[in-house]
Amino acid sequence: MNILERYHAMEYGPAPEARNEADAWLAARDFSKSLFIDGAWKAAAGGKTFETSEPSSGKLLAKISDAGAADIDAAVQAAAKALPKWSASSGYARAKVLYAIGRAMQRHQRLFAVLESIDNGKPIRESRDIDVPLAIRHFIHHAGWAQTLENDFPDHKPVGVVGQVIPWNFPLLMLAWKIAPALAAGCTVVLKPAEFTPLTAILFAEICERAGVPKGVVNIVQGGPEAGAAIVNHPGIQKIAFTGSSEVGKIIRKATAGSGKKLSLELGGKSAFIVFEDADLDSAVEGLVDGIWFNQGQVCCAGSRLLVQEGVAEAFIAKVKVRMSRLRVGSPLDKNTDIGPLVDRTQLDRVKGLIAEGAKQGAVCWQPDAALPSSGYYHLPTLATGVSPANILAQEEVFGPVLATMTFRNTEEAIELANNTRYGLAASVWSENVNLALHVAPQLKAGVVWVNGTNMFDAACGFGGYRESGFGREGGREGMFEYLAAKLPVGPAIKPAATGSAQPVEQVDGTAIDRTAKLFIGGKQARPDGNYSLSVASARGKLAGEVGLGNRKDIRDAVAAARACKPWPDATAYNRSQVLYYFAENLSGRADEFAARLVQLTGVTAKAAREEVEQSIERLFLYAGLADKFEGRVHQPPARVVTLALHEPVGVVGIVAPDNQPLLNFISLVAPALAMGNTVVAVPSERHPLLATDLYQVIEYSDLPAGAINIVTGRSAELAGVLAKHDDVDGLWLFADADTCAKAEADSIGNLKRVWTGNGRTLDWGSGEAAGDAFLRRAIEVKNVWVPYGD
Ligand code: NAD
Repeated sequence: MNILERYHAMEYGPAPEARNEADAWLAARDFSKSLFIDGAWKAAAGGKTFETSEPSSGKLLAKISDAGAADIDAAVQAAAKALPKWSASSGYARAKVLYAIGRAMQRHQRLFAVLESIDNGKPIRESRDIDVPLAIRHFIHHAGWAQTLENDFPDHKPVGVVGQVIPWNFPLLMLAWKIAPALAAGCTVVLKPAEFTPLTAILFAEICERAGVPKGVVNIVQGGPEAGAAIVNHPGIQKIAFTGSSEVGKIIRKATAGSGKKLSLELGGKSAFIVFEDADLDSAVEGLVDGIWFNQGQVCCAGSRLLVQEGVAEAFIAKVKVRMSRLRVGSPLDKNTDIGPLVDRTQLDRVKGLIAEGAKQGAVCWQPDAALPSSGYYHLPTLATGVSPANILAQEEVFGPVLATMTFRNTEEAIELANNTRYGLAASVWSENVNLALHVAPQLKAGVVWVNGTNMFDAACGFGGYRESGFGREGGREGMFEYLAAKLPVGPAIKPAATGSAQPVEQVDGTAIDRTAKLFIGGKQARPDGNYSLSVASARGKLAGEVGLGNRKDIRDAVAAARACKPWPDATAYNRSQVLYYFAENLSGRADEFAARLVQLTGVTAKAAREEVEQSIERLFLYAGLADKFEGRVHQPPARVVTLALHEPVGVVGIVAPDNQPLLNFISLVAPALAMGNTVVAVPSERHPLLATDLYQVIEYSDLPAGAINIVTGRSAELAGVLAKHDDVDGLWLFADADTCAKAEADSIGNLKRVWTGNGRTLDWGSGEAAGDAFLRRAIEVKNVWVPYGD
């Protein structure tokens, strides 16, 4: 091409980034010792290695030590040894280390960026301008959290030794998201990068050596699923933080069930990119390019489902195709490259397989007419139209450069389509009418919503999912909680209830009024499906009454009633507050009766019973007062954008209450869930259920809408199991014996519900620590809505 032709074609020439520094680092480094354990470089004890290669050429980059169980054990031991000193060091001391890491990374940022692009295949523009700066920002931001820990998180302590397992799509950034908050909180870590992308973590460990990170505080091991599983299963670890696929997330949820390990899961997604007809279509096209083709679509929150309003669909798709034709597929080290290779041949094959299956199911897959480089794992950007909501391309996470397109007629349909997925990570809403966008955002089941934008991230703003996209948040204040343990007033172990048809009761207790308490479902007293009853004994072992023996069908009915109850989650916080105050008022009116009941059923003294009733009323008052005060925040990340961290209810919450202090524990668990707008299916104390059934009338008089609270009496362990397996239950709070808790955690993987158990122990419900923020935090999801401003 001569100069004139070049001028007319307006083609960019190649603009390669120099790679000599990265090559020199690769040549100089002794990869035979690539495990960073206790501040030293070690080979794998078993001598195993694995290879990492360059996605743009398939060429071998290095042979890396492959950690076995003995190496993981050594790393955990080192982290445990370093923990006491690190967690006891001052916040200022830890802040200085975090700051030093951030600064050292800044000094080597180009090397990090080039190495990342070589190892992962992502375009240098992205690693240079997004991954590395964001990773640095994370460390510097968290220096502040380290220093302010005692002020901002009173009554919390570091959770301990943390095991962290990350994926290959943002190797350094995911490492930063994991290590920075853990160190700020005073934890020590064992982190495993993904086997496709081990290199920048090795460079990061070198930085730790130089930045004054004490030995054993950061341990970086390498390897694949086996090494990951060895971390997950190691008994010396108190918390697992995982980012990766939903499939492996579920394996980890199951593996950690009953272990008492704290768990956060950042998993996959199938995020909606919604374009309303009043959107600025050209901006939306640019947003979409970033939304789905950033990092070749290998992004957990990729806007992989385009939902476009019918009236503009044709014009919009035409613009998308034109723009797709201009995307430059090529070397990741060329600064003009938009799309680099996928990370590995296996990933390329997976993407091709999903496209073929989508086409078989009726999708029309279009690609621009462009040539691919002759070697490397490249794939053209792909647009699938004619996609039915059930098509594999609309439901499965492709994790590649593939966009599935659907149309919608009106706002309701857009929301319905957007929520028609088992995931709930992110969504992007495009409209020039910000009222409409902010009307839609709260209705989307996703942890992050970008208005007129996409893929915005910041260390100050929490990131994480709803539903099968996992639980827990990374970044900001809520991310810090993931590495802290709240002080709770832990009580004695709960013994498994004796099984059998009924408790041994000899005769009617003279003080009792004969009771035939039913269940409370959808605002009505309902006969149990099985038509069986459970005898309830008084403290003296006499028959105090009978309650319905709830079964699987009753729980299903209760969950359906809770799900159908819209007035409660839709009510204003002030309205919920008033109803809870009224609940307290009505309970107070019957305080004597409840106190007498407590004496009769539990055998406590009249004084203790009176105190429990008073505390229950006080607790209702507390949550009535907090209903409109436990609010979200507004973040101001370093861009022209405000981020609204909204508190939203988890949804339908199952609650299984223990036997001690049966009135107070019931109120202490139900009230915070209700205060935040959740609807509840509660299984009260198995031994003393009459305290809860006596509440039916109080509830009926308290203006709680039908279905806001549903009460199913019966065998706690059995009903907990049904709640755990029910995919329409979003959260489960469980105070039962250790075995029931462990089983419920394992059984919760269907929809990855948020499970909180007492790990087989109850609480001292009378303690002030059995109330407040620690409970409210479990009753909400934090949704971050990003709203840019300016022209
Ligand atoms: P993956 O689940 O296969 O692997 C992730 C990590 O887990 C790797 O380090 C792997 O070695 C390890 N691993 C695999 N099996 C394991 C096991 N049984 N026990 C313990 N560890 C095990 O995921 P991937 O293919 O590396 O990454 C892609 C996935 O990550 C996508 O689903 C993507 O959406 C998700 N992701 C989520 C986020 C988020 O923040 N939500 C961010 C990035 C990526």
